[in-house]
Amino acid sequence: MLLKKRVVGMLSVMLSAAMVFNIAVMGTPRAEAASIGELNSQYSDLQQQINDLQGDLDSITDETARQQAEQQQLEQQMGIIQQQVDLLRTKIDTLNAQIAEKEQYIEQKEAEIAENEELFRQRLKAQYMSPDADGLSAVLGASTFSEMLIKADTMTRIADHDKQLIETLTQQKADLVAAKDELAASKADLESSKSELDSKNAQLAGQKSVVDANIDQLNQQKAMTESQLAQRRDELKVNQAQIEAAIKENEANNGGGGSGGGGFTPSSGVFQWPVPSCSNIYAPYGYSAIYGSEWHTGIDISGGGIYGQAIVAADDGQVVSAIYGNYGYGNYLLVYHGNGLYTLYGHCSSLAVGKGETVRRGQTIAYVGSTGNSTGPHLHFEVRQGGSYGSDVNPLNYL
Ligand SMILES: [Zn+2]
Repeated sequence: MLLKKRVVGMLSVMLSAAMVFNIAVMGTPRAEAASIGELNSQYSDLQQQINDLQGDLDSITDETARQQAEQQQLEQQMGIIQQQVDLLRTKIDTLNAQIAEKEQYIEQKEAEIAENEELFRQRLKAQYMSPDADGLSAVLGASTFSEMLIKADTMTRIADHDKQLIETLTQQKADLVAAKDELAASKADLESSKSELDSKNAQLAGQKSVVDANIDQLNQQKAMTESQLAQRRDELKVNQAQIEAAIKENEANNGGGGSGGGGFTPSSGVFQWPVPSCSNIYAPYGYSAIYGSEWHTGIDISGGGIYGQAIVAADDGQVVSAIYGNYGYGNYLLVYHGNGLYTLYGHCSSLAVGKGETVRRGQTIAYVGSTGNSTGPHLHFEVRQGGSYGSDVNPLNYL
């Protein structure tokens, strides 16, 4: 899948490159074709834009990671609060059941009280109404005083018993009401805690929705930046193909003889050592203990007092790239020497020549530094061979 995509990508670059050439050929006279200087200036601009976009992308990625960490933290906090809310809800449900039970008991008590009061009332009524009954009339109608006292005493005892029963029931009801009130108070406390947690959760949800929106926006920015980056890289490929073509044309025009405006003699493949003041190779080409599993595409020339020392052109040639950058090679020069040979001078403190300039063997072209991906002052010297800037080869085979 990836391979397929890559192939399609390459095809589209080739097609767009072909289109650009067609337009150049058809639309403008040959003399007005972009010069190598212009193409290199374009290259430098594109490279700068790519660096900037890559920087943007790195920032977006960092910020996305930060926002995602915050999102995760908020989700965790909300999860904890939700657990507490669920626990409170369970407790509240239990209290509701207990309160309902108490209410049922209270209702039962009220019914019992009402029933007993009714019985008491009926008894009193019967005693008053029935002349034969054991009532007041019976008391008043007693034949002797002692008989009346006995009757009255019996009535009083019945009344006391009823009264006591009703008082006990009333007390039991009051106890139940008190217990119910206590439960209701506990429930109110829990409900207030729960509503506090609910509002805290709502606040966190608000924060989370902001973070969610930020992440969405960052993802959009990322997609846009990646698309711009892909576009610039495609343009860069077209530009590189144009430079390659222009260099070949230049080479053909100069006929390898070194005559003509700005031309140079194609290299014989024997280069001059690029740092006259230092001959020490700190790190060799290819795999070594210094770079571990990382393939080293050149040799690192380093030694005491090397910082700021002159770097000279390894041979006659034309500056294809003169880049001031913070990544990778840092400030670097790429020089084309003809016959498909390039030299690259990386991590320079400053550059002494510009894009498109013709340089002579031994000419000072830059100064040793430690820019880009470098841990100390040194010259990363790379030799490349082949089309489209070639691929790295062992510099010692050319020195
Ligand atoms: Zn190196």
